[in-house]
Amino acid sequence: MRICSRNIVVTVMILVTLVMVREGVAAERYGSMIDAHGHLGASFDWDTIIHVMDRNNVSRQIVMPRYYPGRSGDSAGTDELALELASKYPGRFFPLVGMQKPELTGANKWHNPNETVESILNETEAKLSTGHFWGIGEVIVKHFAYTSGRHAELDNPIYSSFMKRLSQIAIRFDVPIVLHMEGEPNSVKDFARLLKENSRVRYAWAHSCGRSKASVIRAMLKNHPNLYCDLASMTNVGKSGYGIGWPRMEEYTALIEKNGVLFPKMREVYEAFPNRFMIGMDVAHARGMNHKNYGRRAKRFRELLAQLSPQTAAAFAKGNAIRIFKLDRYVKGDGGI
Ligand SMILES: [Zn+2]
Repeated sequence: MRICSRNIVVTVMILVTLVMVREGVAAERYGSMIDAHGHLGASFDWDTIIHVMDRNNVSRQIVMPRYYPGRSGDSAGTDELALELASKYPGRFFPLVGMQKPELTGANKWHNPNETVESILNETEAKLSTGHFWGIGEVIVKHFAYTSGRHAELDNPIYSSFMKRLSQIAIRFDVPIVLHMEGEPNSVKDFARLLKENSRVRYAWAHSCGRSKASVIRAMLKNHPNLYCDLASMTNVGKSGYGIGWPRMEEYTALIEKNGVLFPKMREVYEAFPNRFMIGMDVAHARGMNHKNYGRRAKRFRELLAQLSPQTAAAFAKGNAIRIFKLDRYVKGDGGI
């Protein structure tokens, strides 16, 4: 009896060790991840952000201040706040000059920038010249409403004076532009024109290239070497997020996975363009910044990465974000990237 129970204990110990080793190998394979699509509002709790990143082995985050006001208890953020966050935790947060601004609502302003838009462009230049910002974004081009209000459903022209001016600024400071544009065919055509005319600008097209279908993603990446995409919020988990088809789907939108399994067509595109994608948790509101929400997205990304070749997975998890945002310019605190 005693020998028997000792054998059971030994067997259980061996099994536990095997599982730990396997998990260790898996964690080693992708290591820490970079969340290449984060947001910040004034109501976010900084201890919580750090806690959820640590728990999920997310070493760094690209932070895009959300100037749009949220519901009650979810105040708007600012670029200055993002800078404060970045300086409090050196090497962990990389702010972009925020573009989720109420002042940018209105297609006419994109074609003919008014005084307010002019000052946004001037401020963007001034902020980038400090060297404390790593890009521009998230520029909201075509956005589906998930709340009511003036800034919820947006349809702005990507081929416009505003975007061309922003692109010139991006070239001057050698930083990428992150943009949100649902892949409606006419907008995609206009984007192709912008990409071609500004071939020195790195554009990061958020949410799996505007939730486009695999064939569209493949064609756009093939035709435009300066195009990158992030997979922000494309995990098919929880009750919100672009990866579950929320807030709505159109004929031209697509998902990337179901039940933690990548659709084969998407996986083929990823393997064909291993240097062009990044991951991101895309928590845009204070109420979503908690372990449950952030953790299930991070965990699902690890499951999806496991279906790619180790090199592609490592690039998506970290390497591409470092290269696209040029994070290796960061040399401070923990000794750089
Ligand atoms: Zn977005």
